[in-house]
This record gives sequence, structure tokens and C-alpha cells, in this order.
Amino acid sequence: MARRIGVFGGSFNPIHIGHLVIAEAAWQEFALEHVLFIPTADTPNKTMHHIDKYMRYHMVELAIADNPHFVISPIELERKGPSYTVDTIRLLQEEAPADTEFYFIAGTDAVADLPTWKYNRELLASCHFICASRPGDVEKVRRSVRYFGALGRQKIHFLRTPELEISSTILRGLIRADRSVRYLIPEPVIRYIREKQLYKGAW
Ligand code: ATP
Repeated sequence: MARRIGVFGGSFNPIHIGHLVIAEAAWQEFALEHVLFIPTADTPNKTMHHIDKYMRYHMVELAIADNPHFVISPIELERKGPSYTVDTIRLLQEEAPADTEFYFIAGTDAVADLPTWKYNRELLASCHFICASRPGDVEKVRRSVRYFGALGRQKIHFLRTPELEISSTILRGLIRADRSVRYLIPEPVIRYIREKQLYKGAW
């Protein structure tokens, strides 16, 4: 059987249990050798709330430190210029043994948006997608799969996970309002957020 590697891209601003739950479920259900967390560089279409990309990276490091099959990669942080997922997968493929298959992990909202991604057909041609359930519009996901026709049916796989109605946006709001985020964000990450006073300022 081919080696299967999970790829989990995100802004992780900050990383939370919604991310960790779907990464672990994907690892198990798809027999992935490991899951590679790839924090994005600062992207113009997402407001990064003045959190340095290396801080987002470090929070992922802290969150996955105790899981031997979770690994982090700085591949997107170090790249100059816009980074497209298709380029990231290509780079990973160049470095991996030829029989490696890549599985990109994403929540339903990301898969619903896939038709708007640049080079999306090239991306689906080069890797599989694991679409993890997240509260939201299911019909939009179905439309996205239909949009890609046979390629979508072959390459987009569904994964049922416990649905957690949380997002980094919601958590940033809680932190700013001095509300507890205990159990929603791993403890070492909460300590780091506190120490650095992240998400407190005006944004
Ligand atoms: P933000 O609120 O800042 O937009 P986010 O919580 O959606 O952030 P990202 O880092 O943008 O987090 O997400 C990375 C990936 O994780 C995306 O594919 C997203 O769909 C998925 N994801 C995030 N939160 C959840 C969740 N609660 N359940 C399932 N998937 C999730």
C-alpha cells in the first residue's frame, strides 16, 4: 500500500480543539502515517489580527508536542510571495518517496469554497481531500463536489467527526472578552497566549 501523509493547512490563529479533533480522526480513518500541520504565511484575504506568523507557528508546536504522529512544517512560512496549496503539495511530493499519497485535510467550509481556489483542479489532480464535518451548509459542500465532476467524486472523501461549533474567530472573541477558553484550546497554548498577551488589543 502507498504511504499516506495528511496535510493540514490553516492559519491556526490560534489552533484549537476543532483542528486537533479532525486531524486525529483523519489520521485514524485514512491510515495516515502522520499529519503535517502547515501554518499559512500571512494571507491578504484573511486578517491576521497582528499576530506574528511565527507566533501562530509556535502555538501549533505547543499544541501537537505530545502527539507522535503530528508533525509541523514551516514550508509556507518560509516561502516568498503568495503561496498556493498546489505549490505546497508539489514541493512535498518532490521530497517524498514516489509512492507517497497526500491527503489534504479541510473542514466543510473550506471544501465548500474550493471552487473559488486558484489552481483547484490541479490541486485535486495531485492529492486527495478529506472533508471533515463542521457545522454549516452541507448543500454548499455537495455543490462543490458536483462542480468538479468525476474528479470531485474520486478525490474528495468525507469524514464524520464530532461537530464542534468553534472557530479561531470565536475564540479570539472570548479571549478579548476575558472569558474562559479552557478545554477549547490546549493548556500550553493558553499559557502562551496569556504570557504574550495575544488577542487582547483592538482589532
Ligand atoms: P478563523 O475563524 O480565523 O477563520 P478557523 O477556526 O476556521 O479560523 P483555520 O485555521 O482557518 O481555522 O482552519 C484551518 C482548517 O481547519 C480549515 O480547513 C477549517 O475548515 C478547519 N476547521 C477549523 N475549525 C474547525 C472545526 N471546528 N471543525 C472542523 N474543521 C475546522
